[in-house]
Amino acid sequence: MSATILDGKELGRTIEKDLISRIDNLKKLGISPHLAVVIVGDDPASHVYVRNKEMACNRCGITSTRIDMSSKVTEIEILEIVKKLNLDDSIHGILVQSPLPSDIDESLIIDAISPNKDVDGFHKMNLGSLVQGNTSGLLPCTPAGIMKMLEMSGYQTSGKNALVIGRSRIVGMPISLLLAQRGIDSTVTISHSRTKNLPNICLQADLIIAAIGSADFVKPEWIKPGAMVIDVGINRISDSTRKSGYRLTGDVDPNAANIAGWISPVPGGVGPMTIAMLMSNTVLATEQSLR
Ligand code: NAD
Repeated sequence: MSATILDGKELGRTIEKDLISRIDNLKKLGISPHLAVVIVGDDPASHVYVRNKEMACNRCGITSTRIDMSSKVTEIEILEIVKKLNLDDSIHGILVQSPLPSDIDESLIIDAISPNKDVDGFHKMNLGSLVQGNTSGLLPCTPAGIMKMLEMSGYQTSGKNALVIGRSRIVGMPISLLLAQRGIDSTVTISHSRTKNLPNICLQADLIIAAIGSADFVKPEWIKPGAMVIDVGINRISDSTRKSGYRLTGDVDPNAANIAGWISPVPGGVGPMTIAMLMSNTVLATEQSLR
């Protein structure tokens, strides 16, 4: 069997194109959606992510402003920038690129962002809303992108056994809540680093969401034939044959495509969906600022 490949780049571009009429309507009212991205330090991967986000803004007609800060910046200095952006009515979305230097309390910074401008969807008010079953607000971009990917591929989630591998605040936990919500109706198992017999649990799953951060961790023999496999992982592996010196791989062994029914590739799967949902959240935050 050879799995259908879920082309996140193509699906993401469709989402972005669908945003253009909403952006045009806002511009007719004299409002241009505006995303501010704060990046601290010189982590190469973070710089690639921020550049990709800026390019997506350009494609959609969203204004973007990038604020570069040194890795030696203090928590107070970042908080001051966030406060300034919160008070600036021309800014509709604020994103502080993760990871921050280890001496900075990331959740303190995220919770300082106005919840109305929290386009990453990580603020405790927005995550709290999701726990309460409200999915109409600013949802975390990666989980929202996965849900869109499932919806656009026509996959029926109701009654399916979904296994989420990983329980992080930004991926594992929110995607578990989204899959279990009324109307989506999957039966969700959350697994993590202390889970025992993971291969056997995987074999029971109709739908696997792998968000671990460990290259090729999920093996083909763990996959139930025909299963839907969403690979969230982005792992950098050194590769001297490449100009960049590395290649990207996911959390699922690519040979799983011989067993699964559907699989999202890395790169080109969940990554572009995440960026498309960031664009979507920025438009939503702008529309909500008018209410
Ligand atoms: P994290 O480090 O916060 O969480 C990893 C989770 O994996 C933890 O909950 C941990 O319990 C679990 N885990 C670790 N070892 C395990 C094991 N042996 N068995 C089962 N579970 C295990 O990571 P994260 O922020 O959730 O990111 C996960 C991966 O997804 C990373 O590779 C990250 O780069 C990638 N990511 C991709 C996107 C995207 O847009 N494509 C967005 C966010 C994260």
